[in-house]
Amino acid sequence: MDIKENIVKLQAGIAEAARAAGRDPASVTLLAATKTQSSDTIRAAIAAGITVCGENRVQELTAHLADNAYQGAEIHFIGHLQTNKVKYVVGKVALIHSVSSDKLLRAIAAQADKLGLVQDILLEINLAGEASKSGFAPEEALAAARLAACLDGVRLRGLMCIPPAARCSGENFHHFMTLRQLAVDIRQKMVDNNRDMDMLSMGMSGDYQDAVAAGSTCVRVGSALFGPRPPVLPEG
Ligand SMILES: *Cc1c(COP(=O)(O)O)cnc(C)c1O
Repeated sequence: MDIKENIVKLQAGIAEAARAAGRDPASVTLLAATKTQSSDTIRAAIAAGITVCGENRVQELTAHLADNAYQGAEIHFIGHLQTNKVKYVVGKVALIHSVSSDKLLRAIAAQADKLGLVQDILLEINLAGEASKSGFAPEEALAAARLAACLDGVRLRGLMCIPPAARCSGENFHHFMTLRQLAVDIRQKMVDNNRDMDMLSMGMSGDYQDAVAAGSTCVRVGSALFGPRPPVLPEG
């Protein structure tokens, strides 16, 4: 598995989809989804040009931080986050993509207040209403955005989604367009917070070109970068 070669391919794929949609390829960040990867693999990815790493699990984030594995890259948190673990994440990452409930939103804001900082966040939206996934229902998103706007400890930067795995190209395009439209609607209905909402985290290895075509500003790519992963066990 040649990470450098994969980055070049992915950047070319991003550029192709962006140009076809009349977008600047530089407006899309390639985030490396590093779950199950070792600190050395993360270092190799950063040396090969990765500028943002996204972690799924608090345990792996903590271990890689202790290892100094992220030198030279920004760290984001993209996985399911339990309220009792926010203290391991808030202030340690530049952006939390996966804020999936009011309770978590309040806990993140409280921890940020305690540390005297403002945590950038995205709201995770469960577009297809999948019971196996976290996230706000689309119709709950505006209320969650308004709650975020009244909490000093967080700054809402946009929305994120994890649609069902795409079986073929084009399949998830409508989900990505729905997320983009939801972000536009929320921005229009919010008075104070609208300028900060400039991010759409959507697209993975199997559907990142459709996500870019629909307006993604951050594609989260794991297997197309690092190769197939062993199955991930639920966090205990
Ligand atoms: C694992 C993961 C990804 C990357 O998935 P791939 O299909 O391997 O590209 C992206 N986002 C989240 C939230 C993930 O957990």
